[in-house]
Order: sequence, then structure tokens, then C-alpha cells
Amino acid sequence: MYDSLKDKVVLITGAASGLGRGMAERFGKEQAKVVINYHSDKHDYNAIIDTIKSYGGDAAAVQGDVSNEEDVKKMIDFAVETFGSLDVMINNAGMENQVESHQLSLEDWQKVIDINLTGAFLGSREALKYMVENNIKGSIINMSSVHDRIPWPQFVHYAASKGGVKLMTETLAMEYAPHGIRVNSICPGAIKTPINAEKFDDPEQRKQVEDMIPLGKIGNPEQIAACAVWLASDEASYVTGLSLYADGGMTLYPSFQGGRG
Ligand code: NAD
Repeated sequence: MYDSLKDKVVLITGAASGLGRGMAERFGKEQAKVVINYHSDKHDYNAIIDTIKSYGGDAAAVQGDVSNEEDVKKMIDFAVETFGSLDVMINNAGMENQVESHQLSLEDWQKVIDINLTGAFLGSREALKYMVENNIKGSIINMSSVHDRIPWPQFVHYAASKGGVKLMTETLAMEYAPHGIRVNSICPGAIKTPINAEKFDDPEQRKQVEDMIPLGKIGNPEQIAACAVWLASDEASYVTGLSLYADGGMTLYPSFQGGRG
């Protein structure tokens, strides 16, 4: 538990499922005030709100598309109107789809860039505007991926978006350090969530991925949420511009395991 997170206002995009949900519930355990952004009605955010309240935190939900400038402004306004501030902004919403690059349509390319990269930019920009104007020494966390450094054939738009998130995070970290605002990213490896559930439910595909992870197993959303609360807390008060890889060692060139190479 991090005492410094109690009553902090935390906005998480794409928080009605997967890693976003895991982070929302963990911030609830820290008794923060959590704003859950969801994109479509098919996600039931009420259960998440109930869980957060049962931990002694508070929560509310706001609909919005992170790639839409007006929606992002509305999310930030909603957080401030509902809970009185914005201390932590987590740009988590994202998507991926698999297509050979020479067959990838401009529409598919644009959609992934719009949500994963432009969405994180809009969320960061609006949060920074609020924090600078109100002299809040806040924290921004962008959800990147191991694919901000590992190339991923057939996911060129996804890898390009996350590579962009990495340098955007580092640039904003430097630019807003004089304001006391920290900007970091979390780079998960393979974590079972709705984004990849189909793949990891198939034993053969699951084994193939596990073989690429030195710790030998797929991660869970709680392990990513643990990174997020630490980064947002005062325990990480000297940390900015970090890409925090939570990947079971996936980025360590596992093919060299056992002295190969
Ligand atoms: P997920 O599909 O459960 O979560 C993505 C969320 O983003 C969903 O709730 C979805 O509704 C939301 N979303 C999509 N488009 C949106 C939009 N335009 N506006 C607002 N919300 C939108 O999958 P996840 O694994 O929880 O993914 C969360 C983040 O973590 C993504 O950025 C993803 O790239 C990243 N990530 C996941 C993994 C993994 O293994 N699960 C690994 C690396 C990075």
C-alpha cells in the first residue's frame, strides 16, 4: 500500500477491461478516486466501481474515444468536476490487429496510430495542461509494450505506435520535469487480457509464447497494476522518463538462454 495515493484522482483510459481494469481496482485498494474511461457500452464498469468502493476508494465512469480530441477534453473535465482534481493520468487504451504489412490498409494503420499513439498524446496533453495551470506535481503513465523495442512482424502499425509512445514519453518527461510532473511508461510483455485471450486459450500458441519468456509464464494484470501504483506513488518521486519493462525477461534475448549463440 502507498499512503501517498489515498484520495488522489486517477483517470485511466480503456479501464473497463484487461490491464485498465486491473489498474483501476488496484488504485481502489490504495483508496484513490478512480475515473474509469470506457469506449463502448458492452463493457460493464459497474462491477469495477463496486469493487473499488468496497476497498474504500471512490470511482465513476465516463464514456469517450481516446482518439477524439473533444472526448478526451470531456474526460478530464469530468474527473475535475466529479473529484475536484487530476493527479494521475494513465493512457492505457489500445488495440492491435494482425495483418501482413504489404496488405495493411491505410485505414487499419491509421486506426491503430490514432488510438495507441494520438490517444496517448491527447490524454497527456490535456492532463499536462490541467496540471501546469493548477500547479499539480502529477504523474502521467503511458501504456507502451515490449514492442516499443522488439520488432513485431505483421503488427507494424502496433510496433510503430508503441515506439512512438516511448519517445513521446521521454520527451514529455524532459519537458515537464521543471514543473515537477513525472512522465513514465510501462512496457508489458505477454499478459492475458481480452486483447489476446483467444491466442492464450490455445495451448499450442500459449506454449510458443511461454518459450519466449525466461520466467516461463504469461503475466497477469495485477503484476502490471503493481508497476502503475508504484510509478504513481511518492516512492517513485525521483523516477521520470522510465520505460518499465514488466515482461518476465522477454526483452533479454531469450534465444541466447543456456549459452546458445
Ligand atoms: P484490452 O483489449 O482488454 O484493453 C484495451 C481497452 O482499450 C479496452 O477496454 C478497449 O475498450 C479500450 N479502447 C480501445 N479503443 C479505444 C478508444 N478509441 N477509446 C477508448 N478506449 C478504447 O487489452 P489490454 O491488454 O488490457 O490492453 C491495454 C493496453 O496494454 C493497450 O495499450 C495494449 O497495447 C497494452 N499492452 C497489452 C499487452 C498484453 O499482453 N495484454 C502487452 C503490451 C501492451
